[in-house]
Amino acid sequence: TGTTTTGTTHTTGDGPGEGNAALVRRWRGALMDNYGTPRLPLVRGEGARLWDAEGTRYLDYVGGIAVNALGHAHPAVVDAVSRQIASLGHVSNLFVAEPPVALAERLLQLFGRDGRVFFCNSGAEAVEGAFKIGRLTGRPHMVAATGGFHGRTMGALALTGQPGKQQPFLPLPGDVTHVPYGDEEALRAAVTEDTALVVIEPIQGENGVVVPPAGYLRAAREITRATGTLLVLDEVQTGIGRTGHWFEHQAHDGVDPDVVTLAKGLGGGLPIGATVAFGAAADLLKPGQHGTTFGGNPVACAAGLAVLDTIAADGLLENAKRAGERLRDGVENASGADGTGRHPLVSHVRGAGLLLGIVLTEPVAPQVQQAAQDAGLLVNAPAPDVVRLMPPLTLRDEEVDAFLRALPGVLDSVHQHGEGPARE
Ligand code: PMP
Repeated sequence: TGTTTTGTTHTTGDGPGEGNAALVRRWRGALMDNYGTPRLPLVRGEGARLWDAEGTRYLDYVGGIAVNALGHAHPAVVDAVSRQIASLGHVSNLFVAEPPVALAERLLQLFGRDGRVFFCNSGAEAVEGAFKIGRLTGRPHMVAATGGFHGRTMGALALTGQPGKQQPFLPLPGDVTHVPYGDEEALRAAVTEDTALVVIEPIQGENGVVVPPAGYLRAAREITRATGTLLVLDEVQTGIGRTGHWFEHQAHDGVDPDVVTLAKGLGGGLPIGATVAFGAAADLLKPGQHGTTFGGNPVACAAGLAVLDTIAADGLLENAKRAGERLRDGVENASGADGTGRHPLVSHVRGAGLLLGIVLTEPVAPQVQQAAQDAGLLVNAPAPDVVRLMPPLTLRDEEVDAFLRALPGVLDSVHQHGEGPARE
């Protein structure tokens, strides 16, 4: 059922369109290639399922890079967005609108603390907000973690602890020291009374789902409190139920950050980010010092409210924990060739809730990603030896089991460098 717009055929994915190859060719001619890998053209999604331009169906364990908390085309999001765009689509922060007020109130209630929210449009922007708040302390120095990822804009990139991503863009703003992630002593040694902020992820997502030792976040809180330094937790990837908690730091006792950055899952597919500041940190930004035209956009905020309401109403924090355990157990114990035991390519699974990394025994994650796609499973490879899973929080048992049934064949095909597995 192709439809024609300005002379070009588009497909809905329900029937024959112009095909995958043609769409990729047009993409090559018109878009900058920021990842440099072959692309799968996708045209439709529903729940944890996606369809390409030729009608082939996939099980989506990428989830828009941990964005689609409710899966694709969730009725609550569709309804909230439709109603909001039909009544008040955008007014800017020169005016007050109900959805951003309600979403900010709701977020603060979930944090259970007094604070204030600055809405923006992405994770990197949320981190820029935190960076500016840090500058306003008057302290010159910042501390972040090696391997950490905070975004691609210049301030966020300065905090990102991946030199390869920074190198072409030097010099970057700020006076940032990167310390090994998870190392309390290195953090203690780097943080002084000149340190404006320490920024860390509760679990490093882009670095391959790296979980710090127990007690690390609390130590970071104690170290920063002792020097009057802001503790910024980047929960862009771990927040909004992804790990089975509203925010991952809530799984750790005694960790009350000064600033939390959010994005990804918050909008259920609409672009929105948030810099949330608590206590004295909430008063550092003064009027005129920061802003953005689209921040607090009513449609994006209405989507955010629908996401939070649905997570609460449908018990999706519990589901993320439960489905995550089923998935983790299945990958560790039932990924052998006969569906039992551990596959020789699988070392172990790490992460929390539905942010999981399959750590491989060989650096073949890109090949596993491709073999999985050929078998109808979409996964992502953030590191050479890590396959990352970020399916919707709505994931059902049968969607876990379909993944687990297909996985042994996918791993075998890479391990034996043989033919790809047959589709499920
Ligand atoms: N912080 C973290 C922890 C992230 O995982 C990401 C995105 N992967 C970002 C910041 C940047 O978010 P965005 O791509 O929306 O700018």
